[in-house]
Amino acid sequence: MAVQEFKAESKKLLDLMINSIYTHKEIFLRELISNASDALDKLYFQSLTDTSIPLKKEDYAIRLTLDRENRTIIVSDNGIGMDEKTLQENLGTIAKSGSQDFKRENASEDVDIIGQFGVGFYSAFMVASHVTVISRPYGSEQAWKWESSGADGYTITPCQKESFGTDVILVVKPDTEEEHYDEFLDEYRLVGIVKKYSDYIRYPITMLREHSRKKEGTEDEYETYTELETLNSMVPLWKRDKKDVKPEEYNAFYKDKFFDFTDPARVIVSRTEGTATYNALLFIPGRAPFNYYTRDYEKGLQLYASGVLIMDKCADLLPDYFSFVKGLVDSQDLSLNISREMLQHDSQLRLIRTTLEKKIKNELTAMLRTDREKYDEFFKNFGLQLKVGCYEGYGANKEMLKDLLLFHSAKENKLITLEEYVAAMPKAPETEEKPEGEAAGTEQPKTEGQKYIYYAAGDSVERLSKLPAAERVLEKGYDILYLTADVDEFVLQVLREYSGKEFRNISSGEDLGLETEAEKEQARAENEQNKDLFAAMKEALGDKVTEVRLSTRLKSHPVCITSEGALSVEMEKVLNSMPNAEKVESKKILELNGSHPVFAALQKLQADGNTDKLAAYADLLYNQALLIEGLPIEDPVAYAQAVCDLMAQS
Ligand code: ADP
Ligand code: MG
Repeated sequence: MAVQEFKAESKKLLDLMINSIYTHKEIFLRELISNASDALDKLYFQSLTDTSIPLKKEDYAIRLTLDRENRTIIVSDNGIGMDEKTLQENLGTIAKSGSQDFKRENASEDVDIIGQFGVGFYSAFMVASHVTVISRPYGSEQAWKWESSGADGYTITPCQKESFGTDVILVVKPDTEEEHYDEFLDEYRLVGIVKKYSDYIRYPITMLREHSRKKEGTEDEYETYTELETLNSMVPLWKRDKKDVKPEEYNAFYKDKFFDFTDPARVIVSRTEGTATYNALLFIPGRAPFNYYTRDYEKGLQLYASGVLIMDKCADLLPDYFSFVKGLVDSQDLSLNISREMLQHDSQLRLIRTTLEKKIKNELTAMLRTDREKYDEFFKNFGLQLKVGCYEGYGANKEMLKDLLLFHSAKENKLITLEEYVAAMPKAPETEEKPEGEAAGTEQPKTEGQKYIYYAAGDSVERLSKLPAAERVLEKGYDILYLTADVDEFVLQVLREYSGKEFRNISSGEDLGLETEAEKEQARAENEQNKDLFAAMKEALGDKVTEVRLSTRLKSHPVCITSEGALSVEMEKVLNSMPNAEKVESKKILELNGSHPVFAALQKLQADGNTDKLAAYADLLYNQALLIEGLPIEDPVAYAQAVCDLMAQS
């Protein structure tokens, strides 16, 4: 009998297949089992119309046989089988998929066949030096043997086989220095591979396994016995109705599969039919993985094609800001052999991702509304990721994320959402009718009723609650968001406003909308009156400040520093603390409390013409203000000396 060559180009392809398409040799077993499963499906499908087929659903099975001595692994099925012609067509031509044809021919039926690419079978050559396929089609007495040792070609000869179906026999390659094959002859290793990739094949995958037990009637004598074991769990948890699955089952599944010892905070079960047919089972972890905020953490969902694992961490299924989500997606529309590059451009996958994104958001929103304690815990774990997501890409995803954010409320002394902040804002009275002809936008801000969302940024809530500028805002009955994470203020800058309310840093020099027109007028007049005093102090402080003026935001403190422009004092601190950062400097204004005794002292120094002392006081006050803001002062020794001098004088 003549050796037949593989069809044109097939040789090259076979080489490519074996050496580069698959990164893990172990997937050969996944491919052969999937083929067996497809063969069972085809026969089962035929049995729906052909009542002469004697098998009941539970009779269909895949059998693994391991023979260490002869170095063989056999994958058998009692499926549809192949005759000479089909062997020739399907195994003689690489990239020819009989399953794809079958799918096309039965397109109107709901057939869930795994193969469609026509290359999986050849992965057997990654581990086998010789492959024999013995197959007998259902309904025929004649069996056929296909044999090949790889690229050189194959032979097909008639042979005998007891019953219909297919045996694929691999002779495992010998171990070499570089490559190890013996591991595939290890029973535990094989069982592990089946569990990993083929746990949810709908037919039982059985194997005769050796066990040992105490001999009956003896104390310490053992005997070995063999038992036919089913290796796979068959019905995937994600295909079962959520109401039929106990929460413990989901939790155990999560912990087992995703190596966590804490129950998930939330389980999301999602199934869709239609444009993207898939089942998804997602988990929001109960705690952040230890490496979550490091570069080592790899996001992604497991991707299954009809119950067979094809990728362990498919990153394209999750946006970065939801990278904490674990879980899996199972789709019928994907092929087993799809590569990462192809997946990236897969429109199905993009559709799935968009749907999942919405699901995750809805779940988090539901948790926020109905289980606040749990959400707070979640936010402690992953809130930073949401904030970073909001800020990244110039706020491209802010609409998606802004309602999921929590910030510390000064009034409530707990975490609140922006929505809650705005809902609690004291309402402004109705705006008056504009006189006709007046241009829009010239209207003065209302001073009654809260106009802005106030915030203060710093290291800790403790410290922020003592900020001089906080006092007046709180006294007005307005809440302040205390921002303590480095990223917080950048997030608010990207958001710009929430529900039409702008954010205002209470330490910024901008108008905080706290005073009435009359108060403002009075402040202007007082600033004018003390013009010379401020000029003298500004002169003494030089470039350190851009202005010295009276403050409208101080109540009991003598002094504070505010900033002008987009860069706040806190942002200066954050940015300058980054390694290798170019130093930035915010524009600072020294603000004084006109009703504080210190101010009277300054006025007196100015009136007495005591310029030196005034300069020294200006410096002291400036340094004090820096210290209150948590900023470093330039010359601590000089500052301490100046304070001591003052103490010695009194
Ligand atoms: P795919 O599964 O993507 O179609 P494969 O290279 O894995 O490609 O298999 C090629 C074809 O060989 C299959 O489509 C199928 O028609 C046939 N085949 C492979 N294994 C079996 C089997 N155990 N029983 C019946 N047919 C098989
Ligand atoms: Mg296949």
